Amino acid sequence: MKIRAVDTQLCRVPLKQRTITDSQSRVDAVEFLQVVLETDAGITGYGMNWSYTPGLRAAQVAVVDNYAPLLVGRDPERRKQIVRDCYYSNHFVGRVGATAVGLAAVEFALWDIACKVAGLPLWRLLGPCRDQVKAYSTDGGWLSWSVDELIRDATRLVERGFDAVKLKLGRPDPREDLERVAAVRKAIGPGVRLMTDVNCAWPLATAIQWGKRLEEHDVFWLEEPMHPFDVKAHAQLARSINVPIAVGETIYTKYAFRDFIEAGAVHVVQADATKLLGIDEWLEVAALASAANLPIIPHTNVQHKLHVQLAAATPAVMMVENCYESIADIWEEPIGVTDGVYALPQEPGVGLQIRRPVVDATRIG
Ligand code: MG
Repeated sequence: MKIRAVDTQLCRVPLKQRTITDSQSRVDAVEFLQVVLETDAGITGYGMNWSYTPGLRAAQVAVVDNYAPLLVGRDPERRKQIVRDCYYSNHFVGRVGATAVGLAAVEFALWDIACKVAGLPLWRLLGPCRDQVKAYSTDGGWLSWSVDELIRDATRLVERGFDAVKLKLGRPDPREDLERVAAVRKAIGPGVRLMTDVNCAWPLATAIQWGKRLEEHDVFWLEEPMHPFDVKAHAQLARSINVPIAVGETIYTKYAFRDFIEAGAVHVVQADATKLLGIDEWLEVAALASAANLPIIPHTNVQHKLHVQLAAATPAVMMVENCYESIADIWEEPIGVTDGVYALPQEPGVGLQIRRPVVDATRIG
């Protein structure tokens, strides 16, 4: 089998809900870069990457200019070799950022072909370890919500069957953060897991001072308290507070995960295959986490179907994030959550194909 053609589509999909915010971003739409690999065997592989800020045009250029010439004519079963060739072609333009985002989309499309050749969904090709995957929700805890809105949304999520919900922190005055945590904890009761996410806004002193106070409210984790490149600060924080630290959505290499794990700077590994070089590197990070006895809870905004399938084949995964439900229907054969549990897909593939009418209606490049 040979890859005959590489096609890309850049789309901007508006959220069908109020504009949402965290301490760094204001989100009203999500960009998608879809990569389509056509083969001479009639099998087509779909991969994508995403961002809620503009910028994927750079990733599209990397795919079209750098990777397509290295893909056409190749046997897609040589995935690891192809990805390595593409990766090293980035020697002087950068190995993370737009080049990696585009390469991950290519990697997913190569895996998609492998799944379709085998006639299996990804999780069954990898080897299942469970029949269902637990979800937790981020959709009710945005930073711009009022306390009343937070309570209403968290309560609704719990009524729908979620037993774990996340709240964004990083208000200008951390005292407000603490009041919001206290209000939601009171509303959902002691039996529901409550996670918090600062999106990197705090300096170390703030993280130590206010991270300690989160212990009073039985917070399940403190996510991205500080800049994710500062392993040392996270290690110091981990020694200073008793709330577990979660990081991963802005850690872009297995080497950086190794450093976090070895430094004792992370307790919950939130590896995201879309921000690494795809599934193969994610599996390597999962092995590192597993060997350190750490749970993996993948970060997921829109790529649920990918991470749910990885979770179904990776014993160390505890649950998978659920977020941006308002655009969950953009996918061919989307997966839903019932009673806080994801159903596993049965159709062959990785599950990152955007529906054609959505591509046509939202395409910007
Ligand atoms: Mg986060």
